[in-house]
Amino acid sequence: MEIMSAIILDGNKIASQIRAEVAAEVKSMTAAGIRPGLAVVLVGHNPASEIYVRGKVRVSEETGIRSEKHTPSENVSTEQMLALIGDLNRRDEVDGILVQLPLPSQVDAKKILLAVDPAKDVDGFHPMNVGFLSTNQPGLVACTPAGIMEILKRSGIVIAGKEAVVVGRSDIVGKPTAMLLINANATVTVCHSKTRDLPAVCRRADILVAAIGRAGMITREFVKPGATVIDVGMNQVTDPAQFDRLFAGNAKREEAFRAKGSTLVGDVHPEVVEVAGAITPVPGGVGPMTIAMLMSNTVRAAKLRRGHEVTVPQT
Ligand code: NAP
Repeated sequence: MEIMSAIILDGNKIASQIRAEVAAEVKSMTAAGIRPGLAVVLVGHNPASEIYVRGKVRVSEETGIRSEKHTPSENVSTEQMLALIGDLNRRDEVDGILVQLPLPSQVDAKKILLAVDPAKDVDGFHPMNVGFLSTNQPGLVACTPAGIMEILKRSGIVIAGKEAVVVGRSDIVGKPTAMLLINANATVTVCHSKTRDLPAVCRRADILVAAIGRAGMITREFVKPGATVIDVGMNQVTDPAQFDRLFAGNAKREEAFRAKGSTLVGDVHPEVVEVAGAITPVPGGVGPMTIAMLMSNTVRAAKLRRGHEVTVPQT
């Protein structure tokens, strides 16, 4: 029997197209006297957060967006954070405000996210933007879900009328992705840890989105032949037995795993490439889209705030 091999949906390539479009837009806005600006707030010294913020600042500079970094200390209070957010809300040259999560436990994270001006909420986490999304009105959409939609649209995957299954119901990925798919006229099912017979529900999907946080959980029996599979998972695997379950026989991955002692794995098992029609790889799929959409959202915020027409990617 001939083994099928899915089309690989190249997130790096799509993200770089979006960054180029954003850079062109920033150039013309800057020439017209409005240079979009992004303020990133990084509290303390969480190593993962530091890496993410470095990436966000670097890509801002590459696309011409003015960026500024605020670094309150680990023991900052909720009141001090609210004062900082208030200041960023007031400053006209700040179009986007991004508070890197997680925040230390003494800070009331919900209060902080609510305090961000919804017009500058480039993460799309403010309940007002969540409300705009669920009522299908223009607003700012969470970056990873927006990136998923750009991958589907730019890869020519038909969404309208299709069955979509989203595994995961988090506020930052699962729920907004489901909402975007509904707005794009898919028939959407949302699954979670209490879903009965998950493989059977997933097998209904023409478009399957895995946003779970469990390395390689989606195996071939979850996937209808020919389906489009979007793998949002970013899991560091360090256990050799788990590595073997996923990648035994993959010489390139084995060599990298031996050298580094860990490897980045999605929620979808590598064997799914033999069943799916199209699939996003990890790394190089959804991951690079998130920062690209943050840049797009910053330009979008700069324009929406000023009542200009928005031409950067939107979902
Ligand atoms: P999360 O908040 O932990 O949510 C995970 C969801 O998966 C929950 O809804 C949970 O169900 C569900 N789930 C867990 N185990 C399950 C199981 N055995 N069967 C069915 N459903 C199960 O995670 P998240 O923030 O959405 O992130 C999901 C993954 O995406 C993670 O690997 C994360 O690192 C990655 N991620 C990637 C990007 C990117 O840029 N590529 C961005 C954000 C997140 P319950 O609600 O019932 O608990």
